[in-house]
Amino acid sequence: MNLLLYGAPGSGKGTQANMLRSRFGIPHIATGDMLRAEIAAGTPLGLQAQPILAAGQYVPDDIMIGMIRNRLREPDSAGGFIIDGFPRTVPQAEALDVLMRDLNHHLDRVLYLKVEMAELLERLSGRLVCPKCQRTYPPGTVACAVDGTPLVQREDDKTEAVRPRIEIYLTKTVPVLEHYRGAGIVSEIDGRGTIDQITGRVLNAIGENGRFGFH
Ligand code: ADP
Repeated sequence: MNLLLYGAPGSGKGTQANMLRSRFGIPHIATGDMLRAEIAAGTPLGLQAQPILAAGQYVPDDIMIGMIRNRLREPDSAGGFIIDGFPRTVPQAEALDVLMRDLNHHLDRVLYLKVEMAELLERLSGRLVCPKCQRTYPPGTVACAVDGTPLVQREDDKTEAVRPRIEIYLTKTVPVLEHYRGAGIVSEIDGRGTIDQITGRVLNAIGENGRFGFH
């Protein structure tokens, strides 16, 4: 099962991706997490990416395409995957089409988590994240409920970076949805409500237990 999660920053992609990963045992390929790991490790790419992420801008397409190409070639991706955070631009989507053809894969579904703007802004400002497992929590939470790690605020969740992230999403990433609508594989999912409700909708969209293909 090859899934792509699509939605604005704060739409709940990471939460649903974690659920899908543990339920189906397929890797969660999150480009934002991969970039933050590069930054934490102080690699040349991390050094280049750090100010871009802090400003809420996008890392150049060629870098991101190379990153996803390498990741999808790893053996654990052969049995299915959940991509979260890619493609964010139309050239990235076109490159992913080529890559999928080269690897003899196809995308089964694009799960679009739909949340209105006012709620996105509210969710992002003040949300906290576990630096170890990347789970997110509402303001006021102290430690991760899963591994007990003290929570931190992501640099790009600080107020000054939230608006540019939303703006770049609207200009560069909304057109990506049209790219996939043309292929007829988009499932629109109401992203409001409790996590369990949204999980139910996601599972429904992929055919309940996800064992049925979409060929
Ligand atoms: P969000 O919760 O805002 O969707 P992510 O964790 O997916 O955030 O990504 C964080 C940041 O990493 C983005 O704001 C962007 O700077 C960078 N990034 C992640 N994926 C991509 C991509 N496919 N293209 C360009 N930049 C990316």
